[in-house]
Amino acid sequence: MTLRVYNTLSRQKEDFQTVEPGKVGMYLCGPTVYKPSHIGHMVGPVIFDTVKRYLTYRGYDVTWIVNITDVDDKLINRANESGTTVEALAREMTQDYFDNLKTMGVDTIDRFPYATEHIDEMLAMISKLVGDGFAYPLDGDVYFEVSKDDDYGKLSGRNTDEMQAGTRVEASDRKRNPADFALWKKSKAGEPAWDSPWGRGRPGWHIECSAMSMKYLGETLDIHGGGLDLMFPHHENELAQAECCSGKPFARYWLHNGLMQAGSGSKLGGGHDRHGDVIDEQAAQEANKLAGSKGAASVKELFERHQPETVRFFLLATHYRSPIDFSDERIDETDKSLEGFYRLFESFERITGDSIYGLSASTTHDASTDLSACPEEFRKELEFQRSRFTEQMDDDFNTGGAVGTLFDLRRTINGFIGDRKLDGGDAPSGENIAALRASVTLLKELAGLLGVFREPIQQAGGGDDQFAGQLMDLIIDIRGFARKNKSFEVADRIREGLTAVNVVLEDRPGETVWRRN
Ligand SMILES: [Zn+2]
Repeated sequence: MTLRVYNTLSRQKEDFQTVEPGKVGMYLCGPTVYKPSHIGHMVGPVIFDTVKRYLTYRGYDVTWIVNITDVDDKLINRANESGTTVEALAREMTQDYFDNLKTMGVDTIDRFPYATEHIDEMLAMISKLVGDGFAYPLDGDVYFEVSKDDDYGKLSGRNTDEMQAGTRVEASDRKRNPADFALWKKSKAGEPAWDSPWGRGRPGWHIECSAMSMKYLGETLDIHGGGLDLMFPHHENELAQAECCSGKPFARYWLHNGLMQAGSGSKLGGGHDRHGDVIDEQAAQEANKLAGSKGAASVKELFERHQPETVRFFLLATHYRSPIDFSDERIDETDKSLEGFYRLFESFERITGDSIYGLSASTTHDASTDLSACPEEFRKELEFQRSRFTEQMDDDFNTGGAVGTLFDLRRTINGFIGDRKLDGGDAPSGENIAALRASVTLLKELAGLLGVFREPIQQAGGGDDQFAGQLMDLIIDIRGFARKNKSFEVADRIREGLTAVNVVLEDRPGETVWRRN
């Protein structure tokens, strides 16, 4: 088995070889914490959490770092608008991000460095870049001079014209080249500021990722991940700064995940959308559109309509490099397809008296589930599916293929239960129980690599919400009927009654929508 990964830098799949044998240093660009996460912000974490689980399964010792951008233009603006401080807003939104990661089952991140706690490291890098002639100070700002870096553009493959089109126009008249980007920015009055050799200011957009990733993972990372929207200019700039500073390759493998798209094909940013203002605004609009008739843009609100496990399964059913078409209907389909797994788990419990959630499954391939208790034909099928699963994941983390294999595995186990009439018939034999337990443990092992079926789902969420949805449809229908017949008293009683239980109705052209308050 050889693990192969698609490297954006070479634009091809390569054999995976780490800097240090057996160890992987992985960095993912984290969020700018100025507003609640939407589902697009969870794509990268879910994918790279799965990548880490799989690399660990393959025997690697993985260190995974995700930064928190807690100083940024957007954060400053949003704090001013809402009459709070940058610190308070950042703290609140960081907690929102952490809560959402936890709910999505992303719990393998080793460290979250904060930008504001690494100003010294950034200043050291900027000073070196200025000293080595790659950067120049200008009226309290410091800019990286792209023409001094022969390799600039190698990650995104952009030529100079395209690069210029992708940069902001601010201060371009003062810069030596419009594509030069800020490493340090002079702070305006009232903005967060730190002392520097160039005056009071704050770090630019890109330097923090280079400084923090190298601090914790060394000068050459094994994997640098992020959404496709961050490839240019953010990753291109991270790479330029880092390599001009260290003289070494910054990252062996650049993995870019596809973005979530909704309806019109607009993107829901995959990474920390601090750079792509356009993408970000579209994302916000699309997220509102996505909310559609039932209301909501944030991850928390999405979880009121769908089980987090369903959402995670949904995200992984698509290859990570492909765009993900997001819609409530598609998540509902995923939900239906998961029913078969939950029924199998119930059946397993009836037969063996054990819950799948109590089984301890291996997290490494070397200690993979012992299938010797299974009759030969059954065992061979299970072994085939296990190797099929790892082949898929070895092929550039093809989680979509791996998800397909889980369905095959479910079918095989259901076949065993059906053939031997284990569920509902006479008491099953000890041999059959042992074989079933081994097969379900294998299912749990492989599903665990995708981060699903680790804990019982919260019934209060999905099941009840569906029921609530049906009831609300009925109530809205009756209220519409009452209004049509001018029974406004009845219509008002319905609205008041719903308000009392924290349900809000909103009349829109052609439809009435509801949400919980
Ligand atoms: Zn970054």
